Amino acid sequence: MKHTLTSTPSAAELVKLHRDHLWLHLTNHKTFETQEPPIIAEGKGYLLKDVKGKEFVDGLSGGVWVVNVGHGRESIANAVSEQMKKLPYYAGSMATPPYIMLAAKLTSLLPEMPKVYLSNSGSEANEKSFKMVRQYFSAKFPGKKKYKIIYRNRDYHGTTLAALASSGQQERKTDFGPLPEGFAEIPHALCYRCPFGKSYPGCSIDCARALEQVIQQEGEDTVAAVIVEPITAGGGIIPPVPEYYPVLQEICRRYEVLLIMDEVVTGFGRTGMLFGHQHYDVKPDIITLAKGLASGYMPISATVTREEIFNGFLAGPDDPNGFFRDISTFGGCAGSSVAALENIRIIEEERLADNSAAMGVYLMERLKELEELPIVGNVRGQGLLVGVELVEDKKSKMPLQENRLAQVVAFVRDEGVIIGRMMRSVPGYNNVLYMAPPLIIDTQGIDRIVDALRKALIRQL
Ligand code: PMP
Repeated sequence: MKHTLTSTPSAAELVKLHRDHLWLHLTNHKTFETQEPPIIAEGKGYLLKDVKGKEFVDGLSGGVWVVNVGHGRESIANAVSEQMKKLPYYAGSMATPPYIMLAAKLTSLLPEMPKVYLSNSGSEANEKSFKMVRQYFSAKFPGKKKYKIIYRNRDYHGTTLAALASSGQQERKTDFGPLPEGFAEIPHALCYRCPFGKSYPGCSIDCARALEQVIQQEGEDTVAAVIVEPITAGGGIIPPVPEYYPVLQEICRRYEVLLIMDEVVTGFGRTGMLFGHQHYDVKPDIITLAKGLASGYMPISATVTREEIFNGFLAGPDDPNGFFRDISTFGGCAGSSVAALENIRIIEEERLADNSAAMGVYLMERLKELEELPIVGNVRGQGLLVGVELVEDKKSKMPLQENRLAQVVAFVRDEGVIIGRMMRSVPGYNNVLYMAPPLIIDTQGIDRIVDALRKALIRQL
C-alpha cells in the first residue's frame, strides 16, 4: 500500500500508518483491529500526552522502567546535541573523551568496579558478562571448562539467545529453542509463594541454599557464575529477604563462582538506593547496567567489573587472552556516553535515589491500603519498583484471571494512568501489576496512580 507521507501527520494518519506498518514488542496486533493503538507524543516530568492530547501519569517510566529522570530534560538534549556537532562517533580500539569520563564516573559510584565495558542494551551487557566470565576462566584454568551460568527461575536477563537461556521466565522461552547450553536454574526467592512451602524467618533461606545443590549437580568445577537481578523486576517484583544474598555469596566464594548482578532495572535510584544490591550485604563481581543509565535518552548499557577480572585479560600482546575477544560497534558511542553523564549528574544533583526511597514508602503505604480488597493478595517492592499481586481469593492465592488484569490495566489507562502487568501465560505468575514511575514523582502523582487503581479494582469485585 502506498502512503503520502506528510511532515506533520494528523492523529488519524498516524493511527493508520501504525496499523499498516508496525510490529510492536510483546503486542497482540489483533487487538488493533477493534481498538485504536495508543500513540504517545510528548512528555514532561512524569506526565505524558498522546497524539490526541489526552494526558497520562506515566506510572511505568516510559513503559519499561527506563526514564528515571523523567521526560523532557533539555540539559540532556543539549549535551547530546553539542557532542554530536563535535564528534558523533568513534569506536573500536580508540576511545573518545565522553567514554573515558563516563567510565570514571561509574567507577566513582561503584568504587569496587574500576573497569567499564560499554554496549547498547541490557541483553548485550549481560551477554558481555557471560563472555567475560567464560574467557576469564578459560585463561585462568586452561582446559578445565568452567563455563556454566546459573540463574533464578523468575529472573529475566534479556532477549538475545544466551541472555534468554539465562532467563527463568519460561513464558518468554517457549518456541525459541534450542537455546545455548551451559545454563542451569535455581528457584526464585518470593516468600509469598515460597518454592519450598516454608515461611520466613523460620526457613533457613533454602532458596539461596539451593545454589549449592545445583552447583554440585552440575559439577563443581564447571560452574563459572551466578546471575541475579538484585530485586527481580519483570518476573513478579521480588525483593529477597536480607539474609538471602550473604548466603548466596558465601556459596559462590566457596566454589569460586562469580556473582553477576543484573542492575539493568534496579540501577540508578530505581529502588531507593543508587544500586539495588546496596540494600544487601553483598559484593558482586560484575554488574550490568542499562535502562536508568541514560534514562532512555540514548541507548547505552555497561558491564562493569572488579579489577581482578580485568587483569585476567592482560596476557602478552601475541596471546589470544591478551584482550577480551568481543566487540560492539555502537558500544561506547560518544553521544550516548554524554547522555549518560548528564543523566547521572541530574540523578545526583536532584538526589533522585532519595526521592525514590521517600516516594516508594508513600506509594507502598497507599497500595497497602488496597490489601483490604479481597482480590489484592500481596503488595511488595522497594523504592519505586512496586508490584501488586491479584488473586481470586486470599486463602487459595489462586491467581486472578488474566482477562481481569487486562481489564484493570485498561480501566486505569482510561482514567489517565499508565501501569503495567506481567507478561502473559504462566499460571501463578502472570497476576502481578507493576508500578515504576519516574523518580521525580511526587505525592500528587502517586495519589493519581493509586486512586485510579482502587477504582479499577473495585469494579472487579
Ligand atoms: N535485564 C533485566 C533485569 C531486564 O528487565 C531487561 C529488559 N527488560 C534486560 C535485562 C534486557 O534489556 P534490553 O531489553 O535492553 O536488552
